[in-house]
Amino acid sequence: MAPLNDPEFGFCRDCLTAQASAGRRCQQCGSPRLLRHPELYRLSIAHVDCDAFYASVEKRDNPELRNKPVIIGGGKRGVVSTACYVARIHGVKSAMPMFKALEACPHAVVISPNMEKYVRVGREIRQMMRDLTPQVEPLSIDEAFLDLSGTQRLHHDPPVRVMAQFSNRVEKEMGLSVSVGLSYCKFLAKIASDFDKPRGFSVIGEAETPRFLSDKPVTMIWGVGKVFAATLERDGIRTIGQLQTMELGALMAAYGTMGQRLYQLSRGIDTRRVEPDGESKSVSAETTFNEDIGTLEELVPILRSLSEKVSRRLKAADIAGRTVVLKLKSRDFKLKTRNRQLADPTQLADRIFRTGLALLEKEIDGTRFRLIGIGVSDLSDDGRADPLDLVDVQATKRAVAETAIDKLRGKFGNNAVETGYTFGKIRQRTRPVPDEID
Ligand SMILES: [Mg+2]
Repeated sequence: MAPLNDPEFGFCRDCLTAQASAGRRCQQCGSPRLLRHPELYRLSIAHVDCDAFYASVEKRDNPELRNKPVIIGGGKRGVVSTACYVARIHGVKSAMPMFKALEACPHAVVISPNMEKYVRVGREIRQMMRDLTPQVEPLSIDEAFLDLSGTQRLHHDPPVRVMAQFSNRVEKEMGLSVSVGLSYCKFLAKIASDFDKPRGFSVIGEAETPRFLSDKPVTMIWGVGKVFAATLERDGIRTIGQLQTMELGALMAAYGTMGQRLYQLSRGIDTRRVEPDGESKSVSAETTFNEDIGTLEELVPILRSLSEKVSRRLKAADIAGRTVVLKLKSRDFKLKTRNRQLADPTQLADRIFRTGLALLEKEIDGTRFRLIGIGVSDLSDDGRADPLDLVDVQATKRAVAETAIDKLRGKFGNNAVETGYTFGKIRQRTRPVPDEID
């Protein structure tokens, strides 16, 4: 019998038979879908992304659509939410205005999104993930990270085989296809899942990572949007390989905490853990807009008032949170959450807001949002919140001022004191604070 954990041996994604030889097709079933990699049986962080999710659900439910170009979108919003792969061949892309999409593909079948259905299907798939490991971190309705470390004894199979079986199971039981990326960290697992869509399964090992990344664009780095990429471009930096040659100090001097991320991720160092949904309770506030909003100027006052709301709740319950979580939903219902851990728990509106703002600034790239939310998690009530900060005198002053404002508000009501907040002033003072780590 071929040893299942020997990296010399790959296996077939369809029939799971171990492959002893270097042939291009499965010795058992003839399938060309073989997996081989020197680190195949050591990797345990997976990213799963459903293929053209909304469109695939509609095709599944109406077989007549099967070979037709299908676009989900239209309605009030007037943009493409998802295009199936047939429509993509004609040049239709997500977020494209509908009139353009129909210019590119006039015979496309346009279906307006049925979010309720997609949420239901997304939950079923997520449940299948949770059958594999409790460490499932959803990123959106059709995407999640899974940490399968330590599950081999449970499954009697290494993570890579568990994930191959998972993708087969989703196809069989749900009639939908997924693409899987498997690596040693979240950053590369996510990149891998995008690599041979649809029905993909890509593996990126630790040893090959620096070389793999070297010719890739900086935009591949999590958190580098169009705006930040333009800043880097002005500084002559286009590829991740260029970042690999730069010192940590230089990158941090130029780009603050983001410089640290550039340094680490360019070298394939990503210490973020897979954070299961609902593991820690959180306090948050969010709002959905009447009209989509894409500019910082419009989002900032909303973020400020939501931060104050969260802070009021924390103070009322006398609890504090250590991780600030920013939530954004774009106009095509894609949900993004970004979080940052503080050095100590906070219940101050000012710290929540500033941390949220730093996260928000990185997401401003022309995307228009329909919802923004801010909250804190990692809650505690042991009185260690917001120690007076000897390093940052300004932060201490703001904390003292906030306490004074709270007292006045306690006496005279929430609207008694305005914070005198103006956009220009805040922006200047929002450089990364040294106590914050990602
Ligand atoms: Mg997807």
